Amino acid sequence: MKESIELISRKIRAGGKNVVFTGAGISTESGIPDFRSQGGIWEKFRPVYFDEFMSSRKAREEYWRRWVVLYKDLMRAKPNPAHQALVKLHEWGLLKSVITQNVDGLHQASGLPDEMIIELHGNTRRIRCMGCHQLTPIEEVRQRLNQGEAAPECSCGGYLKPDTISFGQAMPMVEVEKATALSKDCNFFLVVGSTLIVQPAAQMPYYAKKNGAFLGIINLSETPCDSISDVLIQGKAGEVLPKIIRELA
Ligand code: NAD
Repeated sequence: MKESIELISRKIRAGGKNVVFTGAGISTESGIPDFRSQGGIWEKFRPVYFDEFMSSRKAREEYWRRWVVLYKDLMRAKPNPAHQALVKLHEWGLLKSVITQNVDGLHQASGLPDEMIIELHGNTRRIRCMGCHQLTPIEEVRQRLNQGEAAPECSCGGYLKPDTISFGQAMPMVEVEKATALSKDCNFFLVVGSTLIVQPAAQMPYYAKKNGAFLGIINLSETPCDSISDVLIQGKAGEVLPKIIRELA
C-alpha cells in the first residue's frame, strides 16, 4: 500500500492534467449507500425505468416515495475525508476536473467549484420538469409532497422529476462530451469508488489509458479495469485519499 500511495502521489505531482473519476463508493463513508455493495440501494428498491416514469402515474408515485426516503439520508450526509482530499488537490493546483457518476452533490458541498465538476448522471438536489425543462426549487417540491401531492407536476402540466438520469433516459450530451474530452486529454486518471460497469461512464478510464494517461484505481471491490490499471488500491477512499494528501504534503 505504501509504495502505491507514493507512486500515485508522484504521478499527481508530475501530471499537470489530473482527472479524478468518482462513483457511489466515495460517498458510502458519508452514509449514502452505493448501488451494488451488500446493503446497497438495489437490495431495497427495484429501479424505476424512465419510460415507466413517463407513462405510469403509479410508477411516478413510487419514484417520489423513494426519493423522500433517500433524500432524508442525503440531507444528513456530509462530505467525508475523501471528498475533502480532492478539495486539497484543487487548492494545491493539482486537480483539473472531477468527473462524477454521483447525484448527491457532495463534491459541491465539500467546496469544489461547480465548474470543476462534471455530473454524468445529474443531481438529485435539483428538480426538473420533463415538459418545459425548467427547474423548480426543491423546497417548494418538498412542501407539496408533505402536503400530500404524490407525484408533483409543473405549472405547464409536465411531470416534475429529480434531475438525475434514470435507466433508459438519454445521457446529458454536453457532460458526456466534456468528460470524454478530459479523459482523452489527461495525463493522470484516478478512479475512486466505482464498479465501472455503468455505461457510457465506464468508458472514461479506457479513453484515458488508451491516450497514454497513468490509470489509478481506489476501490473496495474488483472492477473490469483492474487489469489495465497502473496502480490498484483495494481500500476505503476515506482512508486512502487522505494518505495521498499526507504524502503530497
Ligand atoms: P456502484 O454501487 O456500482 O459501485 C460502488 C463501488 O464502490 C463498489 O465497487 C464498491 O466496492 C466501492 N466502494 C464502496 N464503498 C467504498 C469506499 N468507502 N471506498 C472505496 N470503494 C468503495 O456505484 P457506481 O459505479 O458509481 O455506479 C452506480 C450508479 O449509481 C451511478 O450511476 C451513480 O449515479 C448511482 N449512485 C449514486 C449514489 C450517490 O450519488 N452517492 C449512490 C448510489 C448510486
